[in-house]
Amino acid sequence: MKTDIRAIFGENVFNDSVMKQRLPKSAYKEMKAAIEAGADLDPEVADIVAHEMKEWALEKGATHFTHWFQPLTGITAEKHDAFIDPQKDGSTLLRFSGKELIRGEADASSFPSGGLRATFEARGYTAWDCTSPAFIKETPHSTILCIPTAFCSYKGEAMDKKTPLLRSMQALDKQAMRIIRLFGNTTAKHVTVSVGAEQEYFLVDKDLFLKRKDLIFTGRTLFGAMPPKGQEMDDHYFGAIPDRILAFMDHFNKELWKLGIAAKTQHNEVAPAQHEIAPIYDQNNIATDHNQLVMETAQRVAEEHGLKCLLNEKPFAGINGSGKHNNWSICTDEGKNLLDPGKTPHQNMQFLLFIAALMRAVDEYADLLRVSASTPGNDHRLGANEAPPAIISMFLGEQLDDLIAQMEEDGTATRSIKGEEYVSGVQSLPHFRKDATDRNRTSPFAFTGNKFEFRMVGSTQSVADPNIVLNTIVAEVLSDMADRLEAAMADQEFGLVCHKLIKDTIKAHQRIIFGGDGYSEDWIKEAERRGLPNIKCMVDAIPALTSAKSVKLFEKHSVFTEAELISRAEIMYENYSKTIHIEALAMIDMAKKQIVPATIKYQTSLADSINTIHMTGSGIDTSVQESLMKAISENLKTMYDALRKLEKKTAAAETMEEGQVQACYYHDVVCEAMDALRAPADRLEMLVAKEDWPIPSYGDLIFEV
Ligand code: ADP
Ligand code: MG
Repeated sequence: MKTDIRAIFGENVFNDSVMKQRLPKSAYKEMKAAIEAGADLDPEVADIVAHEMKEWALEKGATHFTHWFQPLTGITAEKHDAFIDPQKDGSTLLRFSGKELIRGEADASSFPSGGLRATFEARGYTAWDCTSPAFIKETPHSTILCIPTAFCSYKGEAMDKKTPLLRSMQALDKQAMRIIRLFGNTTAKHVTVSVGAEQEYFLVDKDLFLKRKDLIFTGRTLFGAMPPKGQEMDDHYFGAIPDRILAFMDHFNKELWKLGIAAKTQHNEVAPAQHEIAPIYDQNNIATDHNQLVMETAQRVAEEHGLKCLLNEKPFAGINGSGKHNNWSICTDEGKNLLDPGKTPHQNMQFLLFIAALMRAVDEYADLLRVSASTPGNDHRLGANEAPPAIISMFLGEQLDDLIAQMEEDGTATRSIKGEEYVSGVQSLPHFRKDATDRNRTSPFAFTGNKFEFRMVGSTQSVADPNIVLNTIVAEVLSDMADRLEAAMADQEFGLVCHKLIKDTIKAHQRIIFGGDGYSEDWIKEAERRGLPNIKCMVDAIPALTSAKSVKLFEKHSVFTEAELISRAEIMYENYSKTIHIEALAMIDMAKKQIVPATIKYQTSLADSINTIHMTGSGIDTSVQESLMKAISENLKTMYDALRKLEKKTAAAETMEEGQVQACYYHDVVCEAMDALRAPADRLEMLVAKEDWPIPSYGDLIFEV
């Protein structure tokens, strides 16, 4: 089937061209101004926009509208309202007012609030984020107008991921503007954040998926012996894509294009059955909304192809997990990427200042970046010899080394410090540590030409999480730099002051630069020597969120209040405990009802075989059956003991009060008991006949799609 991408791209989006076409000129102008300046829309104009939006949606077959938001569950939420307005004569009008567009009410008590709000305080509001366009969600049985919104409690506390994200973008805008003004830019009005989120995922056959309770309940396998072949042949990465998967991708892309999501790149990933999709980058909040839609659409479309899309960070032990590369850059509204090395020394100076700022931000707030990439699933990935290590470091790479070298050469013309003229004087900058050449895939935070790529982020996460932190920590460093520059400029020449600031910053934070193999043991030791934190798991990462330093940072830039931070930490602990709890229960269930009975059945058939042979009196050797029986019996015993232990520990965890202590107990005690149960069960899988094993194997799941 041929597709004309131009015909479908953005067809379900109430975007700029639709607004231009449909809105009266003055309303369109006001709407544009509101989007650009983040100003409030006049109620009358809001009514006009709402009316046109409704008419447009009705033409597309929509029956309902919803304020679409991102509560702290990590997924999106929607409550549908029909456009109907019944009349006395039994007919109905179709209505949608400006008020309904701008503000909605959602029952806040049913979403996680981390103690921010008592259960009786139920009121919560959703507020239109007019900078992210409304769209129509079409599924086989429904057509809904979705309005991207932020979600706050009655008292105005953020109860979602969107609100702090927008606040952090604002903070960065403000501070980055101060810097570019100092560099002489008088025309730009805003600095915005661009994000490109590469999404990894697995596809497995739906029928096989439905035979595994672990996948159904937890999204990852909790048992499973390694297949004879894993990813060691490296034959999947970028490999030819099978027809069934291509059919899925084709459909998936079309659905995304209709939503105006610029799905661009697709390929097979490292692990068998693993794939990646990357849309073209967009403004941070839009990219965040789009990534939620990418995840949602992948799951929905997979179903239509008899597949299941696994987004969990580690669906299969021993096989690469999934992440989400968060590509990040900052750009003026005039289209200048501030992380672009540029051509003239003057611009390079500004660029170097931003690079230095990033170095300092990442070094000083490594713990916050670490917590921003923490999920229960990501614990199995970070530092586990595949994805980036749990230690945060930064890779600048050839390009930047090269740039510095070039500037050293070119600099001769400008280097002679003469009064007013700025001299980049790069020669006197300390050298960046030059470890690796080439691209470095093991670095968690890599400069890739004109953007940074934060690679720790988990595949299930909202990209709001890492970007809230990234935007805020960079805003903080820029604000400090702007303060210093402004103060020093009173009696010193800007170029000199700036040069010194860059030099001092780079020197002070050189330890964060690392270009070697991030997976090696040596790096762990080296990082320790450098004093870089190595935070191994989610429960150890969470406290950073509420440290005095963090509260000061987020409050200063009005991104989070202390209460909001505390509530988010609580939700993270809760989420961790609940996740592990469900995993433990799923394991217990599978072990008890499937693995133990199947093993006993097989054991019985072996015993029957031995008896039958003995009864023939033929003296035929049954030692193989006997040694198999013995191995099975030993493992079964170990497994059963481990099962009893896990039941006990899980029951104990359940009685504990929610919070840090409980989450740590789940991590330290329950997870260990889960591992102890898994090991003998996986050995049994290798001993019991395939046809008697009650669940599809890893081989079935990852090689049979
Ligand atoms: P790489 O090969 O380094 O991963 P790609 O060009 O494939 O780079 O881009 C990966 C992702 O980064 C894509 O989503 C892309 O749109 C995004 N990206 C490219 N340039 C930028 C930028 N300046 N800012 C943010 N994201 C970007
Ligand atoms: Mg990439």
